Amino acid sequence: MVQESEEDVVKNFDYFAPKSLPEVQEILAAHSEGSFLMAGGTDLMMQMKSKVIAPKCVIDLKGLGLNYIKPMEDGLAVGAATTLHEIEASPLIKEKCPVMAATCSEMSCYSIRHMGTLGGNLCNASPSADTAPPLIVLGASARISGPDGERIVPVEDLLTAPGQTVLKKGEILIEIRIPPLPPRSGAVYLKYKRNEGMDLALVGVAVCMVMDGSGTLCQDIRIALGAVAPAPLRASAAETVLRGNALEEELFEKAALKAREAAEPITDVRGSADYRAALVQTLTRDALRQLKEAVVSG
Ligand SMILES: Cc1cc2nc3c(=O)[nH]c(=O)nc-3n(C[C@H](O)[C@H](O)[C@H](O)COP(=O)(O)OP(=O)(O)OC[C@H]3O[C@@H](n4cnc5c(N)ncnc54)[C@H](O)[C@@H]3O)c2cc1C
Repeated sequence: MVQESEEDVVKNFDYFAPKSLPEVQEILAAHSEGSFLMAGGTDLMMQMKSKVIAPKCVIDLKGLGLNYIKPMEDGLAVGAATTLHEIEASPLIKEKCPVMAATCSEMSCYSIRHMGTLGGNLCNASPSADTAPPLIVLGASARISGPDGERIVPVEDLLTAPGQTVLKKGEILIEIRIPPLPPRSGAVYLKYKRNEGMDLALVGVAVCMVMDGSGTLCQDIRIALGAVAPAPLRASAAETVLRGNALEEELFEKAALKAREAAEPITDVRGSADYRAALVQTLTRDALRQLKEAVVSG
């Protein structure tokens, strides 16, 4: 058997390590074809090694100072190049946004979490990207910088299809803004995977619940599903079942069924469409029960 050399596996490419956003724009302008942004490289290098892509130019974003977690008047700002480990370990995230610390700590393995970034997880736009559903239910938004300046996009609208986002040519995700959780609220992300160890989500369900002042009625609720459609999606009909109502087991069953109906899962090597749909129903009901316990009773 003839062994492939490193060069056969990954073709030569130009490597740039810019120190500022204008410098990134200059490089992108000079290398319009075949250039790829790289943060931690955990997805990008896999795609290069499996020959899904063959970049002519790789632009490393790690020198841009985009790894930070900052308190803001209206929540938290997390730089796009913040690693998954930095998020899981951050006291500020644990205090203000514990669902993101918990989500990141369940992803991948220790070494990948030290390299992989929040921005990379979102921009890679895998349907099973774990950070997307919780950010969607938290109402987070993405700060994007491009040749024409900056714009803000809700994370809910960021991922559009496998490997596709709303980012236009030359645009870079620079920051995620997470609004504060209102009083009497909580959020949870439940991930179902095939084994106990490192694995992608077969299904992921995130829920954020806000109770009213009396603590008896559901003032607001957001439910997002991962790995059951080309991009993470909101289960709006399920939310409507619960919003404004007392949280009873019967309504949880109804909402979970609506969430199942919202899913558009596929059958692949990891699981059948029917199995995934059933998991959506189970995880949604479990997430609602957990949150009721935590927010109302707890
Ligand atoms: C063994 C293994 C296990 C994994 N387990 C999980 C898991 O459990 N859950 C999960 O969700 N993922 C998992 N992943 C996927 C991966 O680790 C994450 O998606 C990671 O967060 C990607 O971040 P990165 O910085 O490495 O991205 P990179 O590989 O650097 O980039 C990924 C893509 O995003 C683009 N990009 C990166 N940053 C930006 C930016 N700021 N602006 C615009 N575009 C950008 C790149 O051009 C590229 O297309 C796993 C990967 C491996 C190898």
